[in-house]
Amino acid sequence: MINLLDFDADGLTDWFARLGEKPFRARQVLRWMHRCGVDNFGQMTDVAKSLRAQLAAVAEIRGPVPVRASTAADGTRKWLLDVGGNNAVETVFIPEPNRGTLCISTQVGCALECSFCSTGKQGFNRNLTTAEIIGQLWHANRMLGAVKQPGVGDGGERVVSNVVLMGMGEPLANYDNVVAALKLMLDDNAYGLSRRRVTVSTAGMAPAMDRLRQEAPVALAVSLHAPTDALRDELVPLNRKYPLRELLAACRRYLENAPRDFITFEYVLLAGVNDRDADARALLALTRETPCKFNLIPFNPFPGSSYRSPAAERVRRFQEILVQGDVVATVRKTRGDEIDAACGQLAGRVRDRTKRRQAVVVAPPARRSIPLEAPA
Ligand code: SF4
Repeated sequence: MINLLDFDADGLTDWFARLGEKPFRARQVLRWMHRCGVDNFGQMTDVAKSLRAQLAAVAEIRGPVPVRASTAADGTRKWLLDVGGNNAVETVFIPEPNRGTLCISTQVGCALECSFCSTGKQGFNRNLTTAEIIGQLWHANRMLGAVKQPGVGDGGERVVSNVVLMGMGEPLANYDNVVAALKLMLDDNAYGLSRRRVTVSTAGMAPAMDRLRQEAPVALAVSLHAPTDALRDELVPLNRKYPLRELLAACRRYLENAPRDFITFEYVLLAGVNDRDADARALLALTRETPCKFNLIPFNPFPGSSYRSPAAERVRRFQEILVQGDVVATVRKTRGDEIDAACGQLAGRVRDRTKRRQAVVVAPPARRSIPLEAPA
């Protein structure tokens, strides 16, 4: 069976053409699936009965299978979704007064092994398919009651206004499936989200950033986490392949075609590792030529990690230095922590990790120890 959630608009149009059907039929079905959240061809009342029967015989609309759902006191919702092979990924919805943000996963695990990351510690199993990526938004809209009601035009509330690809996995290491899902998020016949409200977060896959700039330019967040190559090689091993100079040049190229005029740099603050005054000043020097904002994320401890979260005063001082350097710097609020939905805890379950090394080949590390205490 073909799962129609695997197609973006062009792919669905091509598939319908092979059935001898016109492009408008593909658009009708696209709208039923994504705008109305329908998973049954029988409900597609403006599609000819004979075509509905034909579709039911050869295709399906198969969304993710939830194995657990939880809601935190602050309204944050989390779904654990089964992706087969005893693996699962997480999707989190964070409601705020003026927007609703859905954080979605793109891989089962992650091969990049960032040293401070809960997902990185779990290993890698496989890329999610387009259906599994867009299926997270499809599922959330259904659960949140945000689907448009058939036959009443644009009725229905858009509860998910923003999507961030910041869950499990490195989105740009699963490029083709992620771009197909992005196109659906932006498509007016599907989710119709603004490019400015869809954010891809990458650890810095520079060549793929160049492709994304051409093929689906959405807002970009880059996980920076260190002001020097020496430290970043340790924290984000991908840096050995695409070092800071190359990464920042790719960021500036991205801005030529981006929906926002700045890059968001994510920076996890690790006590005594990258949170000194000198690190903040080095960041200002490093990013002087790159329009940017900083999102500071105090480390969120997880079992088995030796890093510590900095004291609130250290976070405040780090932020102050950046702001005094004329850079916007915010500190990420922790939401939904009692359901493990805060940053660095969005993990899911990776049982089969044997494919970790097949995903991304990174040069071996130059060993260096990371100080765990702040220097005197
Ligand atoms: S921080 Fe992102 S890229 Fe790094 S290991 Fe975690 S999920 Fe992968």
